[in-house]
Amino acid sequence: MTTTSSAHGIHHITAIAGPAQRNLDFYTRTLGLRLVKKTVNFDDPGTYHFYFGDETGAPGTILTFFPWAHVAPGRLGVGETEETVFRVPAASIGYWLHRLVERGVAHQAPIERFGEKVIPFKDPDGMRLAIAGLPGIEGEPAWTAGDVPAEAAIRGFHAASLLLEDTARTGAILTDVLGFTEVAREGSVVRYRAGDTKIGGIVDLRGAGGFLPARMGGGSVHHIAFRAADDAEEMEMVRKLKANHGLNPTEQKDRNYFRSVYFREPGHVLFEIATDVPGFAADEPVSALGSALKLPAFLEPRRGAIEEVLPVLA
Ligand code: ZN
Repeated sequence: MTTTSSAHGIHHITAIAGPAQRNLDFYTRTLGLRLVKKTVNFDDPGTYHFYFGDETGAPGTILTFFPWAHVAPGRLGVGETEETVFRVPAASIGYWLHRLVERGVAHQAPIERFGEKVIPFKDPDGMRLAIAGLPGIEGEPAWTAGDVPAEAAIRGFHAASLLLEDTARTGAILTDVLGFTEVAREGSVVRYRAGDTKIGGIVDLRGAGGFLPARMGGGSVHHIAFRAADDAEEMEMVRKLKANHGLNPTEQKDRNYFRSVYFREPGHVLFEIATDVPGFAADEPVSALGSALKLPAFLEPRRGAIEEVLPVLA
């Protein structure tokens, strides 16, 4: 038996951005998230890897970016994460609409989905984002060191939607392996929920047969990661992927703050499974998260050369 009480849902979402400073400014200033880790792409150490989230970078709050200054824009299509939705208190929807207008952020008028009020908007690279106004969450802890007041601050992810040729086989991975259950349908969207996980607990699958395939680039989500409590639960998920779905995930990779496996799900979206442990306080205290450039031990000997090629941040 593996852990039975573990929480499931979205662990983090990783996307591709343009210039690093613009990305940093948008997520910390305009949206008021905390930069919880400033590191590099372990596979391409001349590129930053920014992690934004709540105070501790709890699973379900983490949006991460690889910023490439001269990246070509991506094109939305099937086989990718279409939209990333943040949770905010219901009463703050007006505040957010005003804030997006005031800051010149491209956005749509508020709409209703699954009975929830949602404002879709885009980041400076065209990444599809939204905020959902939810009742009863205003008492939850919020990161408020930025200039977004506590009563409006983002409380992690609400949901992510995937755009797929066909939703059935991806849905089977969510339900059989990743701890989700189908809970609702609206139009071409099937909604899945991970038990009673409140933060990052929803995935919407949107079927759009015949749409062009996605082209990865600036504003595209590179991959979406789902939670496993620990190594044992992650290995049990890997076993099911192999035995029940004929998939062959990568070997486990140590990402310093979590340990991960990756696989391309049947709808071609890159999925990761990431452990809740050890978390972002592994190499700096919670009070100092994001303040220094952190490198994994194997890159520390190259720190000087890496710092020289990374863009300077204000
Ligand atoms: Zn990841």
